[in-house]
Amino acid sequence: MSRDIQTVSVIGAGQMGNGIAHVFALAGINVRLYDIDSDTLKKAVQTIDTNLGRAVARGKITEHDQKRALTNIMTVDNLADTGPVDLVIEAVTEKERIKQAIFEDILLHVNDDTILTSNTSSISITRLASRTDRPERFMGLHFMNPVPIMQLVELIRGIATDEETFKSVAGVVDRIGKTYSTAEDFPAFIVNRILMPMINEAIYTLYEGVGNVQSIDTSLKLGANHPMGPLALADFIGLDTCLAIMNVLHDGLADTKYRPCPLLVKYVEAGWLGRKTSRGFYDYRGEVPRPTR
Ligand code: NAD
Repeated sequence: MSRDIQTVSVIGAGQMGNGIAHVFALAGINVRLYDIDSDTLKKAVQTIDTNLGRAVARGKITEHDQKRALTNIMTVDNLADTGPVDLVIEAVTEKERIKQAIFEDILLHVNDDTILTSNTSSISITRLASRTDRPERFMGLHFMNPVPIMQLVELIRGIATDEETFKSVAGVVDRIGKTYSTAEDFPAFIVNRILMPMINEAIYTLYEGVGNVQSIDTSLKLGANHPMGPLALADFIGLDTCLAIMNVLHDGLADTKYRPCPLLVKYVEAGWLGRKTSRGFYDYRGEVPRPTR
């Protein structure tokens, strides 16, 4: 048995949250979007409008689809209003204490049968679920960035996730036109377990002076046929998110091969978080991105 998901709340309207709201709204599902920062929330709706406009220009959707999608999104300015829906998708900053606090607060406002999910890239679903009243209706729903473009969604069952919850969430992934893979609940799941150590190694390669930003990215693009170099990709993901994931791998698997590169730590401490702050391994403030090393 699975449930038909009609209403969704997205908590966190940053890079991922706005993309998630976009794809659900476009599929005709009512979305409530919330962020603690009201400017981010306003910007998110503009970003969704711009991105839908691009899809219209490329002939992928019609102007009518764009308008209808926008009317399916309701921004809300307090967390309590995100509760009474069929499915909650948490997409806030990759910090366990923030996510945990959100789930604790939202439990006061959800319906009995509301399914809770987290878009976390790496944090234990079982642990997040265990602190709620409904570990059987809790799972990982991990989108890729940029959400409107990337086909994959990773589905992660916590130890207690029941079959109805899994099928309901898998059903809605089908409905928004994405493909899912299933991963067991171990640190960073599948995509980031493989991708992040590669990015971290690219940063070590830079740190040790084996190559500069340009040579490392060119090598992987032309030498391994990657569409984007690992440092450009790190900037795209967000260096704070990359560091958070490496820390989860390092702590969770207790293996020194996952030690975050000190240069990654330094960039994050500087607030050079990649594209979202206009500076990371590249500087995005000019006409063209320029390597910072
Ligand atoms: P982001 O920094 O762009 O957005 C995070 C948003 O959370 C911000 O807008 C912030 O204001 C908001 N926020 C923080 N605390 C909040 C609170 N208490 N209540 C409501 N909103 C709050 O980060 P992002 O890249 O969108 O990442 C969000 C989540 O998605 C993380 O768990 C990350 O691991 C995961 N993720 C990221 C990527 C990626 O490539 N960036 C890919 C897949 C999954």
